[in-house]
Amino acid sequence: MKSKMKNFQLQEIKHESDLDKNFGKLIAKKAHGEKLFGCIQCGNCSSACPLSSYMDYTPRKVIAMVRAGFKEEVLSNKTIWLCASCYNCTVECPKGIKITEVMYALKREAIINKIYPKNFPIPIMASTFFKEVKGRGRINETWLLVNYYLKYNILKMFGYTSLGIKLFFTGRLLPFEKGLKNKEQLKKLIGNSEA
Ligand code: SF4
Ligand code: SF4
Repeated sequence: MKSKMKNFQLQEIKHESDLDKNFGKLIAKKAHGEKLFGCIQCGNCSSACPLSSYMDYTPRKVIAMVRAGFKEEVLSNKTIWLCASCYNCTVECPKGIKITEVMYALKREAIINKIYPKNFPIPIMASTFFKEVKGRGRINETWLLVNYYLKYNILKMFGYTSLGIKLFFTGRLLPFEKGLKNKEQLKKLIGNSEA
């Protein structure tokens, strides 16, 4: 009911001039040239998705909204972050559309544009994880968690202080672990990507 109401509001308030007409092409390009515009809206992807009942917009609707240019609505929604990358939708699509890649492209776009649900931990963790890999060449759990909680909720970090101290003294947290030696190779792989 809630999702139906949301979609009703969406149709009611959005004017064609408000849509981002290039959004579909951009996402198709970022998702390795996916043929979004060949989608026949059969709904197989939504039926196959184990999480679609928890999503505000099912995978079928996400594809429709992306190609129509509903950029803000798709990027600011929790739906794309609930995708568990199980690839069921991709396997079941009769048009061979790799919906999972589209979901990845949307997540990257949401991080780059900083358009994601407020106080929602998944995109914050994803962007912190990427920055950690980009900056150090490998994940250091200590700095990953510190940087994550600084962005997400600093007060929650203090709740883990005693656990952190125990892990430190048992050698499970290594804050001074060295990063990758040859970061130039990594830069060539990642380029200037922001997410
Ligand atoms: S299964 Fe493929 S063709 Fe059918 S709605 Fe989903 S993306 Fe479109
Ligand atoms: S890859 Fe994501 S969108 Fe596709 S079926 Fe799995 S959870 Fe659903």
